[in-house]
Formats: sequence, structure tokens, C-alpha cells
Amino acid sequence: MATANFGKIQIGIYVEIKRSDGRIHQAMVTSLNEDNESVTVEWIENGDTKGKEIDLESIFSLNPDLVPDEEIEPSPETPPPPASSAKVNKIVKNRRTVASIKNEPPPRDNRVVGSARARPSQFPEQSSSAQQNGSVSDISPVQAAKKEFGPPSRRKSNCVKEVEKLQEKREKRRLQQQELREKRAQDVDATNPNYEIMCMIRDFRGSLDYRPLTTADPIDEHRICVCVRKRPLNKKETQMKDLDVITIPSKDVVMVHEPKQKVDLTRYLENQTFRFDYAFDDSAPNEMVYRFTARPLVETIFERGMATCFAYGQTGSGKTHTMGGDFSGKNQDCSKGIYALAARDVFLMLKKPNYKKLELQVYATFFEIYSGKVFDLLNRKTKLRVLEDGKQQVQVVGLQEREVKCVEDVLKLIDIGNSCRTSGQTSANAHSSRSHAVFQIILRRKGKLHGKFSLIDLAGNERGADTSSADRQTRLEGAEINKSLLALKECIRALGRNKPHTPFRASKLTQVLRDSFIGENSRTCMIATISPGMASCENTLNTLRYANRVKELTVDPTAAGDVRPIMHHPPNQIDDLETQWGVGSSPQRDDLKLLCEQNEEEVSPQLFTFHEAVSQMVEMEEQVVEDHRAVFQSLALSPRLECSGMISANCNLHLLG
Ligand code: ADP
Ligand code: MG
Repeated sequence: MATANFGKIQIGIYVEIKRSDGRIHQAMVTSLNEDNESVTVEWIENGDTKGKEIDLESIFSLNPDLVPDEEIEPSPETPPPPASSAKVNKIVKNRRTVASIKNEPPPRDNRVVGSARARPSQFPEQSSSAQQNGSVSDISPVQAAKKEFGPPSRRKSNCVKEVEKLQEKREKRRLQQQELREKRAQDVDATNPNYEIMCMIRDFRGSLDYRPLTTADPIDEHRICVCVRKRPLNKKETQMKDLDVITIPSKDVVMVHEPKQKVDLTRYLENQTFRFDYAFDDSAPNEMVYRFTARPLVETIFERGMATCFAYGQTGSGKTHTMGGDFSGKNQDCSKGIYALAARDVFLMLKKPNYKKLELQVYATFFEIYSGKVFDLLNRKTKLRVLEDGKQQVQVVGLQEREVKCVEDVLKLIDIGNSCRTSGQTSANAHSSRSHAVFQIILRRKGKLHGKFSLIDLAGNERGADTSSADRQTRLEGAEINKSLLALKECIRALGRNKPHTPFRASKLTQVLRDSFIGENSRTCMIATISPGMASCENTLNTLRYANRVKELTVDPTAAGDVRPIMHHPPNQIDDLETQWGVGSSPQRDDLKLLCEQNEEEVSPQLFTFHEAVSQMVEMEEQVVEDHRAVFQSLALSPRLECSGMISANCNLHLLG
């Protein structure tokens, strides 16, 4: 029986292999199989060890250096071996994939972090291992063949031609790889003042095993879903040589590489890791973000539920880009934002037989909450009142609800609302960063509410605006934003824990969204958007901490240590101040108080009284305007109109102005 001739193949050497998808890469030979003239090879892919059995012929066709000497000997008697590409293809197809060698489960992603799997320390080129084998000098087998058999014959054998072709291809690939390596080296700009940090981040990333989210990943059912989206560095940041300090190594992990300095001035990286339901890298398009965040909520509203989806983050981190679409430059495209994508799916769902028979009508509203006041973006920014009836039903009085029949209708409304939102503003972002925009898709059945999807582009969460150096109005705005974001966090947490009380009255935002935070069938999703730059590091960390806090309790509702005293707290500074101020109790201030108690580290008792005073003033202002309007209307009905001028002047009264 003829024994297999493995040529220069040895256990432990690296050979090139071709995968069924056409990729060619190196793998280590782990056994030589005499019986079926094949070798077993192993390689590491995505952290797992993979293996394959490949027949000798395929190995030789890709690794001509390893061909046994006698095989390249052109023999006039024997016809050249048919090493045509057709044959190679056939061999590749017939290869058998051996199951993953190590039968371990895929590592959890937190293990991925910083745990680059050590590659085998030596990664020898095949030629050098062939040399170690001792039989061939540093010339290729082709050259060796030529040398051995004198001047080349007029007609080269097919086998030699094939081997030469492969050799050429391999050389070309090597050159390309070399070029790529050089280009990458140039990418690291040595003139950057943060060169050292840049190298540290690059090295860290080099050691990671990336497994980004793909559309093939399963979409999990979450009552509360919290995820993070990183945007790419923008032109300005690149010009300023800002560094990208965010890494998203897997589908749910976000890492922040915070540059720090030791006392001896040496710089180092502090890598902080966060985990969410999903993490979207800067390459993820809106469609992808939508797929895992808002899309699963569309069904909720058809099932008579309430859904909310928030974009939360610092100004410029990509909230509007995510929710509204791409508004950069001249080509505004709101069809790619989550508002429009959700609307598209609502109209698709409507056609499903199950829902078609319900004869649902679709409506949309679009409004803005600025400094605790509501403005209708579909009605020339008319200021609206928020009222709560005896049954705790909250109503935004006079809010325009427009019927929409198709996606185009929705896009038109988004356009109207957006231009209304920014009209008269010198900078679109300066204004929108201080207000929350709420876009709602409402389903009604015979006029009765069936389900509601609220999509909210929140005000920027940065703290800079409420510093003492800012003017009074800016500080008021900042405090109001801060309060509403805290209230939002507490309401979502209450939803996650099925708590009977939701402190929705603590802010206008949570008040108008109240019906979405209660009820069995409510689902919510928060997309925390982050800027990648080192300059935004502090804001980014604040965003991630907030998002983490929103979800934290829902991960493990029974987690000890997180249960904070709610109503039965010992007398504290707030109570002292209340006594001093002699204020009474109201549902609104109770919620505000609850909010402050739950966020003591962020809301001082003084800030609480400040919020309390502001809320009262806003209430009073609304009352005064309301009263004047009523008087004006009653006078308008009567023939005596002389004092109407005075009344309308009074209507412009701004207690906070
Ligand atoms: P925000 O609403 O949070 O203030 P924007 O959505 O206006 O931020 O984004 C700021 C800038 O960054 C815009 O020019 C926007 O086009 C761009 N941008 C945001 N997110 C992305 C992204 N994922 N991909 C590309 N550009 C983005
Ligand atoms: Mg915005």
C-alpha cells in the first residue's frame, strides 16, 4: 500500500488554507492523516479555535513550497497532473469541516474586554519552516526544479505553470498586506499632542477580539431597553486632532478609554466598561439602530399598549440624527430617522389581516417642551396648557392631532414641525439642545385611543449651561432640563419595577407622557447617544452612567442595596426648609420631593426649593394668562371693549422673563 507523501508538511507549521467563502488565511497543521491523505489544521477565529481536514492536494496547490521534490519533476512519460482550477474547486467543496475543536461556549462579552487571546508566539512563514526542514535552500521549489533540470524545456508542464501562478498571487498578496501595514502606521499621526494616548488606545484595540452587532443577532423582548450609540468623529473634531476614546468591542459593551495622569506626570488609560442591551458602533446606520430599538415597540401599540423611545445625550452626540434623520448640510433627509421608520412600519402593520379588521386610524402630533412649557409644532408653536382631571388623566389642551394615511403624510408633518421648531433661531442646535421634541404616532379605533408611540428627542444633558456664569434664563432652562431628565429616569425605573407610584408630576415632560409610564402593556427604549471624542469624555461618562442607572434595577429587580427609602425617611433638610417656607403638600410637590430624595447626590435641598418655586411661578403664570383670556373673551362678547388693549398687554406678562 502506498503511503502518503506529505512533502515538507510537518505538524506545527503554518500553511495557507482556502475557506469555502474564498478567504485564504494561515492555519497550523495539527495532524497528518495517512489513511485519507489529508492534514488537519487549526486556527483561531473570533476567539474560538476552529479546525478543518484538508486533503493534501489542496494544501500543495496553495503552498507550493511544501510540495515533495519529486512531484514538481517534469516527467516526459507521465502526463502532467491535472491541477486545473476546476479540480481545486472540487477539492475545496469536498473538504469536510471538523467541528470546533474546543467545545466551549462562546465567551461572554465582558471576558472579551482586554482579553485578547494570545496567538501562538511564533507565526512562521512557511518558507522558513521549510528551510528548517533542512532539505531545500532559500530558493523556491519552482526555481529548485529549474535549477535541477537545467535550462527550462520549451513547454512548461501545467503543474509548474499552476505553481508559478500561485506563487505570483501570493507575492501580490504579500505586497498588498505590506502596503496596508504601512498605511495604518501613517494613520497614527506622530505630531498629535496626544500621540502617546493614541498609541495606547490603538494597542489596546489591537488586542481585542471584535464581535460587533449584526443584523443576524436576535432581537430580544425587553420591557425596558437601554442601548448606546456612538457617532463617528466629525470634521471639526478631526481637525482639532481630537481622539476617538470609545470602543465598542461587542454587541452590548461600550468602553471608554479615559486618559489620566499619575503624580509623576506619566499618562495612562483608565478603561471603563459598561454593558447595555445593545451597543451600536459608529458604523451602524439608522436602520440598524431602529431594528433593535424602536421597531420591536411598533407591535406594542397595535396590541393596545403604550410605547416610548427616547434619544438621550449631550448636544451634538447624534440624538436628532437618530430620531429625526440626517439634517446635516443642505440635503435634509428625515426619511431615515426613527420617526419615519416607525411610521413606515405602522402602515405596514396596518395591512396585516389581524389588525386590518380593527379599522384603526393613524394620527400624529408633534410638540416641544421648553422650560416646562408645551408648544405645538404643528400649529405655529402655539403654547398649550397641560391639565390633569380628577381621574389623573393628563391632557395637553388643544394639541393638534393630524390624521395621516401614508408615510409621505408623516414626512410632511415632520418637515413642518422641524422648520417650526427652529424658525427664528440663529442656530438650530442651540435651540433644540434646550428643548425636548415629542413626536407621537397615535392609533385610534372609532375615535377611541388604541395605542400610542411617543418618540422623543430630548434636550441635551450637558451641565455646562446651569453654571453661575450663565444668565438667569439659561440657568433656569438648565435646571428645568436637569429636573425633567431626573424625573424621566425615575419614571422609567418605576415602570421597570412595577411600582404603584410613578413620580410623573415632577416635570412637564413626564407629566405629558404619564399614560406611557403606567399600564400593563407599556414598553420603553432609551438610546443614549455619545460623542467619540476625548474632549467629550466627561459628558459621555455622565450619559453612560445615567443610562446605566435607568436599566440597572430592571436587570435584577431584587438587587439589594438599591432599594432606597422612599416615603418613610427621617426628617431631613428638605423638611426643615419646608417648615421655614411654610409650604403645604400637593401631588406635584410630593413627586418633586420624591425625585429629590431619590437623587440626593444630584439635587440639593436648595435646588429642590428652587424647583418648587419655579413650578409654582409657572403655574401662576399660566393661571394669570388663563384668567386674562377668560376675561378678554367675556368682554369680547359684550359691546364694551375699551379695556381690551390693557388686557392683551397683560397677557404678555412673563413672571420668569
Ligand atoms: P444632537 O441632536 O444630539 O445635538 P445631532 O443629531 O444634531 O446631535 O448631530 C450632530 C452632528 O453629528 C450632525 O451634523 C449630524 O449629522 C452628525 N451625526 C450625528 N450622529 C451621526 C452618525 N451616527 N453618523 C454620522 N453623522 C452623525
Ligand atoms: Mg438635536
